[in-house]
Amino acid sequence: MATPQRAETVATRPGDTVELPQPVVGSLSPSRASDFKTCPLLYRFRTIDRLPEPPSRAAARGTLVHSVLERLYDRPAAERTVEAAHNDVERAWRLLLESEPDLASLFADDSDGADLSAWLASARDLVSNYFELEDPRRLEPAAREELVEVVADGLRLRGYVDRLDISPAGDIRVVDYKTGAIPREAFEAKALFQMKFYALVLWRTRGVVPRVLQLMYLADSSTLSYQPDADELIRFERTLHAIWKAIAAATATGDFRPSPSRLCDWCSFQALCPAKGGTTPEFPADALAAATRDRRAARAKVEPEL
Ligand code: SF4
Repeated sequence: MATPQRAETVATRPGDTVELPQPVVGSLSPSRASDFKTCPLLYRFRTIDRLPEPPSRAAARGTLVHSVLERLYDRPAAERTVEAAHNDVERAWRLLLESEPDLASLFADDSDGADLSAWLASARDLVSNYFELEDPRRLEPAAREELVEVVADGLRLRGYVDRLDISPAGDIRVVDYKTGAIPREAFEAKALFQMKFYALVLWRTRGVVPRVLQLMYLADSSTLSYQPDADELIRFERTLHAIWKAIAAATATGDFRPSPSRLCDWCSFQALCPAKGGTTPEFPADALAAATRDRRAARAKVEPEL
C-alpha cells in the first residue's frame, strides 16, 4: 500500500534530526491519468508534447457554467436564486474572455451575434437545471474549486474539486458538476474514476474517507452518487501507481501507442495519429532526458547536507 509523503529524518547530533525530502518522480491528475487509460498517444500529445488544442464551444460552456455555480455561493444564502445565477452568466463570460482571449475565436464568424445569444441561453438552461437538483440556499459548502494534493511513494496526486460539503458530524461529500447527461451504466465506472481519485487524496490528507461522491449532470438534471470505502481506495491507489509505472516506461522509450475508440471523434490530434493515417512527430528529446533523470532520482539515496 502506498503511503502519503512523510519526510525521512536523520540524526545530525545526538537529539537533533533534519528532514530528508522524498524525491517526487511523477505527478498525476485525474484527467491526465484518464487520458493515458483512454489512449497513451493522446496522453503524450497533451502532457509531454503539450500541443495546443483549439477551443470548443462545449468546453467553454462547461467552464462558464462552473464559474457561475462557484460564484453563486459567494452570495448570501437568501440571494442564491436562479435569476441571480442567470444574471451572472454574461458577466462570467466577459471575465472568461478577459482571462482566455483566444475564446473570442469561437464566435469570430457570428456576425449578427445569434450564435453567441443561443450559446449563452444554453448555459442559462444548464444553470436552471442545477436548481432542479438542489436548493443552494440550504447549503454552505466547505470549499469550492479546492486544490487537493498528496505525495505518496514519490507520486504526486493533485486535482481540483468543484465543491466539498462537510456535515456537522464531519462527513465529507465531494461534488462535481458535469454539463453533459448522466452516462449509461456501462460507463459509470469511467465517470467515477475522477471522483475516486479525489476521495483517495482527501482520505490521505484528512484521514477521513469521504462519505459520498456525487456527480451532478446538468444536461438532464440527474445525479450519480457513490459511497467509497477504504479497501477500494487502497486498490484504486495501486491502480494509479500502475498507471504511473506504465507512463514512466512509455516515457523512457518514447513508445506511446494509439488506442483508437469512439472517443477519437473528439480528438484534436487525428492529423498526428497513425491510427487515423497521420504522422506522429518525433518524441521530444528533453522528455527522454527528463525520464532518465527521474529514474536516477528515484533510485538515488538522498544524502543530507550537514
Ligand atoms: S485519434 Fe484516437 S487513437 Fe489517435 S491519438 Fe486521438 S484518441 Fe488516440
